[in-house]
Amino acid sequence: MADKPLHFDTLQVHAGTPPDPATGARQVPIYQSTAFVFKDADHAARLFNLQEVGYIYSRLTNPTVMALANRIAALEGGAGAVCCSSGHAAQIMAFYPLMQPGCNVVASTRLYGGTVTQLTQVFRKFGWEAKFVDIDDEAAIRAAIDDKTRAVYCESITNPGGHITDLPMVARVAKAAGVPLIVDNTSASPYLCRPFEHGASIVVHSTTKYLTGNGTVTGGCIVDSGNFDWSASDKFPSLSQPEPAYHGLKFHETFGPMALTFHGIAIGLRDLGMTMNPQAAHYTLLGIETLSLRMDRHVKNAMAVARWLEQDPRVAGVTYAGLESSPYFARAARICPKGAGAIFTVQLKAGYEGCVRFVNALKLFSHVANLGDARSLVIHSASTTHRQLSPEQQKAAGVMPDAVRLSIGIEDSRDLIADLDQALATAGAEQPVPA
Ligand SMILES: *Cc1c(COP(=O)(O)O)cnc(C)c1O
Repeated sequence: MADKPLHFDTLQVHAGTPPDPATGARQVPIYQSTAFVFKDADHAARLFNLQEVGYIYSRLTNPTVMALANRIAALEGGAGAVCCSSGHAAQIMAFYPLMQPGCNVVASTRLYGGTVTQLTQVFRKFGWEAKFVDIDDEAAIRAAIDDKTRAVYCESITNPGGHITDLPMVARVAKAAGVPLIVDNTSASPYLCRPFEHGASIVVHSTTKYLTGNGTVTGGCIVDSGNFDWSASDKFPSLSQPEPAYHGLKFHETFGPMALTFHGIAIGLRDLGMTMNPQAAHYTLLGIETLSLRMDRHVKNAMAVARWLEQDPRVAGVTYAGLESSPYFARAARICPKGAGAIFTVQLKAGYEGCVRFVNALKLFSHVANLGDARSLVIHSASTTHRQLSPEQQKAAGVMPDAVRLSIGIEDSRDLIADLDQALATAGAEQPVPA
């Protein structure tokens, strides 16, 4: 039994969390401690030299946070993981070891709005650059990659449109160029999509969303497949070359498939300080225990709601990739065989003003800037999450002024449809074509 790999539903409850060695506590204790006592001066020195793995100070590692990181690594099928304070922190933490001033990332245009802002505004301050491409266009990705490119970046299921990225194609292009593919797997969760099986090298998560699943805490995670050869070229000196802060230690040579994970803790968390706190890790560990059960219900409800919306005469279009009418339907079956997620946009014939009335009229759907909650959520992306983007960037990201994004929860789908029905009635008639 011990050598047989465990299945997803078992891992989501058990991975990374044996009974507490100190007390036998079956649930993972919240180790609410900033620092951990050294056995003696020699023990302290070995820990600081990375010659021995252990707990020093909670900015770097904490047992509750480590338990969560190990569980997420197991669910993604990765070699190791690092948790941090938010999804945005995870993105910066993933780029940090790969990038130098003057380097660039080739990124999909179809990203969460905050990510587009991070990749344009924050990147500029670091001397980094993001080159945005249509991630469906293989030739465009290939053409955008140059000798200063250090990663390709995309989302598996994209926010807000719920489009599905052809991960094997993008991974192939990245591999041929000798750079890792980083996939934001937030909207899919490792239950619906496992990017490493499609060739990705690194996965990032906003654990704020489906992994926690109850809208209580923000958090992020970077998972490393352990498969990328950081020493194959001179592109990644932070991982392949001697690190001055650790007496010339070479992370890749020393830690092999755990190089990025150790670097994320020993350099990333130590120097950037975007640490997850043990309380947040506790809530996310509780949430993950029911991940597959929730995702199955999210998908079932999303199908029912999307099917109902699609046939409604007040609706101009539904982008859900689980619908046979979606251009992404066949790809969804390949990339996310258990379902195409539960976020998508609905275009209303009542136009922009109708969208505003529709959002105001919904009662069960909460109007919030979040997704992946057990509760159903709605937002008008153009005026909120993607507001900072130019009209061209909004169009490329799949954000339309006459559409709202739905994040379908785990309620009874009949109640969700009834709520949508009454709000569509309030949204009003088809917008007259302007004279
Ligand atoms: C929310 C979100 C993020 C950012 O995560 P935070 O935890 O809010 O920092 C990144 N990517 C996607 C796809 C998201 O939905």
